[in-house]
Amino acid sequence: MKHLLLKLLLINLFIFTLNAKENEKITLRLDWLNQFQFAGYYVAKEKGFFNEVGLDVDIKEFEYGIDQINEVLEQKANYAVGKSSLIIDKLNGKGIVALASIFQSSPMVLLTTNLSIKKPEDLLHKKVMLTPDARTAIAINSMISSRGVNLEHIDFQQHSFNLNDLITGKTDAMGSYISNEPFLLKNRNIKFNILNPKDYGFDFYGGILFTSNFELENNPKRVQDFQKAILKGWEYAFLNIEESIEIIMSKYNTQNKTYSALFYEANSLKKLSGIEENKLGLIEKSKLEEIQYIYTMQKLVQANQKLSNFIVYPSDVILSSIEKNYLKRNTLTYLSKVNAPFNNGLGVDSIELDYIDALKSKANMDIKIKNDLNIEESLKLLNKNQAYFKANFSNGTKSNDYLYTKPIAAFDLAIATNLSKTYISSTSILEDKKVAIRKNSLLLKELEKKYPNIKLIKTDSTSDALKLLSNDEVYAVIDLLPLLNLKILENNDNTIRISGVTGLKFELKYILNKEDKILQTILNKIIQRIDEKVKNKIDEKYNILNYETIERISLFYKILIVLVLLLFIFVLYNIKLINEMRKRKKLEKELHKIADTDELTNLNNRRKMIKILINSIAISRQYKKPLSIIFLDIDNFKIINDTKGHAIGDDILKEFSKLINKNIRSTDTFGRWGGEEFLLILPNTSTENAKRTAENLKDIISSYKFKSKDSITSSFGVTTLRDDDDKKSFIRRADEAMYFVKENGKNAVKVD
Ligand code: GH3
Ligand code: MG
Ligand code: MG
Repeated sequence: MKHLLLKLLLINLFIFTLNAKENEKITLRLDWLNQFQFAGYYVAKEKGFFNEVGLDVDIKEFEYGIDQINEVLEQKANYAVGKSSLIIDKLNGKGIVALASIFQSSPMVLLTTNLSIKKPEDLLHKKVMLTPDARTAIAINSMISSRGVNLEHIDFQQHSFNLNDLITGKTDAMGSYISNEPFLLKNRNIKFNILNPKDYGFDFYGGILFTSNFELENNPKRVQDFQKAILKGWEYAFLNIEESIEIIMSKYNTQNKTYSALFYEANSLKKLSGIEENKLGLIEKSKLEEIQYIYTMQKLVQANQKLSNFIVYPSDVILSSIEKNYLKRNTLTYLSKVNAPFNNGLGVDSIELDYIDALKSKANMDIKIKNDLNIEESLKLLNKNQAYFKANFSNGTKSNDYLYTKPIAAFDLAIATNLSKTYISSTSILEDKKVAIRKNSLLLKELEKKYPNIKLIKTDSTSDALKLLSNDEVYAVIDLLPLLNLKILENNDNTIRISGVTGLKFELKYILNKEDKILQTILNKIIQRIDEKVKNKIDEKYNILNYETIERISLFYKILIVLVLLLFIFVLYNIKLINEMRKRKKLEKELHKIADTDELTNLNNRRKMIKILINSIAISRQYKKPLSIIFLDIDNFKIINDTKGHAIGDDILKEFSKLINKNIRSTDTFGRWGGEEFLLILPNTSTENAKRTAENLKDIISSYKFKSKDSITSSFGVTTLRDDDDKKSFIRRADEAMYFVKENGKNAVKVD
């Protein structure tokens, strides 16, 4: 008994040390204190998702004075969570990469209990508490200034992180997390308004998981394992909110949050995660560009920089530097011979070559194909050289003379019979029957072993075997499904069909020189990352079971009747749906108007103008038509504001907008760029005509008497799209031309 206990103890100890050895210890640094905001990470740890990929993760919450980026760059933490401002750091040369964005929109909003504040414009001369970090405040600042409110006219205060300051009116609005503070106010029955930058077009990512280039270079597999595990954790956390809160409350509740506070947080964050739109973790290039553009506008980064190598996708093939060097030094060569349907010699549209194509495009590398070798010659080449590889179809048997990759595809061993025979649901039907099979087939041994009672008739080729079947000399033919499919098709014999599959499958792997370990890991990495959709497409091309029988046709009619019924229901349902959709479209249109128009003047706002400009540039290039723009700025507008007051200033801006809109063509687009600056886009307009338009507008404006009895003038910059322009250089030229006018007496037009 004592011995047994001792043994058990030893075994336990052994298993324990084994486990401890297996799991790599790494650290994750959060960017705030423990709460649901990081639930996915706790869940990945506590539900064993990290363990599954051999990781032991130490999750550290935020500490004052610690900088996430330095932590990661100095390898004090392997991974960390950060904000959209990581883009700034990346552009400034920091060696970081983003792995996932947990929140598709940032939870950071402006919260106010002063109910007269309903929109950013209402913040004029009000007190606002924001964190001093300009980079995190950027979304809120941009929202405010985008509505024409000068930030200098806002009384910014140091953030006290004390909600009472908001309630007692010590401040009017406070930077807050949409998932936290509103709950506390609701709980105390205090009414509040939220100003969310997202609603004004400033939509930033939040909760971005990132790591260092160093980690990516040195532990590429770990990066993707970690990424996979946390995404699994997050999915679980959002789909099992109650259980995840239990986990937080029992182990991570350093803030002593209540269950209902965590519950509120969980549900608000779930909405931001985009999990229901299948966007969990997603980072989109186009959205990054928009964010970068906002940073550029706010002068936090230099213009015209390219944000590259910032995102690592779960499906990316990440090669180590050794592996990259290997590919630089060697060109891979694929050894094969023409043998349809596996290789038709054309490079694509046959099984082996389609997979080679998939490998090539996945890893963005070149693979030479040698089609003229028989198996012996190929193996000889493999034995002598590295960087060669060839296909191997087998049922798992391996030789020690080569290295094997993981399987890239699997093929059924299928059974063909005459139409008169029944479908073969079980291979045992073939027992004691004659079955023809290619004699050099790799499958032969397998079949003999597994079904010793089948009388195998060996033929020279699959076609010969099918001939025996046509002549009723055998009951069935067995071969790989794609091969049988092709041969039946080629023989054009309508009396033969594929009537079932055996339980055996053959896998397609690659074999290579037994010293070529680097190539083995390279190929394995690529094989594992090939998209299932790509594989399925290839599979469908060659592995369809071609049953075409009378039974099938009667089944076809049965299905048809069901389909007609379904269609009927579908149509009824759709009539309802179309009505709903109309209503929604109307609502969407209204919402769009808010996001795309400037509230004061009802003109397109800058965001919308940029979109229109991008479109116009594309159209101009496609149809080879000139595109011109006019940038205009009201002269000395500050004086009007200062002497007549802001309200009159506002009225003039409104009247001014109407005036211009009345005097342009319907194809031109006029928009407010900001403040008293405007942009006019003139499609299909030469420089000469644009100049004339500008002069005309200049005269109209300067001779117009506003209701307030004021007169104003404006300065104009005109330019036409050039071949090497992008939207930024295009606008910049117009802007600079306008400034030239400002510096040379105003109220004029300058063309560049
Ligand atoms: P310049 O001829 O050099 O353009 O002089 P300016 O005074 O027009 O230009 P400046 O950029 O110095 O000042 C622009 C002024 O426009 C500041 C602000 O008072 C006013 N302004 C900007 N947006 C609005 C707005 O929405 N409403 C009102 N009333 N005034 C605005
Ligand atoms: Mg001005
Ligand atoms: Mg101006």
